[in-house]
Amino acid sequence: NLGDPFVPSNYGVHSRQFEVAVVDFFAKLWKAPEDDYWGYVTTCGTEGNLHGMLLARETFPDGVIYTSKETHYSIFKAANYYRMDIEVIPTLPVGEIDYDVLEKALVANKGRPAIMNVNIGTTVKGAVDNLDRILGTLKTAGYPREQYHVHCDGALFAMMMPFVEDAPELSFTSGHVDSIAVSGHKMLGCPMPCGVALTRRTHVEKVEQRI
Ligand SMILES: *Cc1c(COP(=O)(O)O)cnc(C)c1O
Repeated sequence: NLGDPFVPSNYGVHSRQFEVAVVDFFAKLWKAPEDDYWGYVTTCGTEGNLHGMLLARETFPDGVIYTSKETHYSIFKAANYYRMDIEVIPTLPVGEIDYDVLEKALVANKGRPAIMNVNIGTTVKGAVDNLDRILGTLKTAGYPREQYHVHCDGALFAMMMPFVEDAPELSFTSGHVDSIAVSGHKMLGCPMPCGVALTRRTHVEKVEQRI
């Protein structure tokens, strides 16, 4: 579809209701607040990551991206496109972000908001950054909720985490997740490139422009 799937169009040929159904499915899967979510079907996981990073930058123009060195290149691409500062944090042998180094970097950059990219399945090792630990680290480093933005790159696993028994919860319920991106042609195996970006409506309102 051209444009916002939630906004009616005067163009007769469209598939908005299908796109909205897809977005609603993921909103339910990730327990997005019923009155505060927005999303769309993207061309790929990369686009969802770009979208998440752009919304983060609009919220925090002076923010610093924190992400692990095993992060997919699309996050580095976003930093490049949108001219955002980025701190690349080393990883533990399993491929998760090194939480201690993350804390030191957060403390060193105190005063500038944190834009956290959380990997829900890295490309090579399938490592899942521990969201609860990252939230704990932000707290210990002295970042209140108004000083950070959390994006989850769920290109690989965001789709299946909710179905895995004993997996850490990936959802909007805690109020600490701002956006999630997933790739449709990776784990789901969709035959054409696609993805889904989901976020809070309040974040999108910041970038809305009347056309
Ligand atoms: C592949 C991948 C992406 C990007 O997904 P595309 O749909 O190929 O653009 C993002 N993050 C991770 C971890 C990936 O493996």
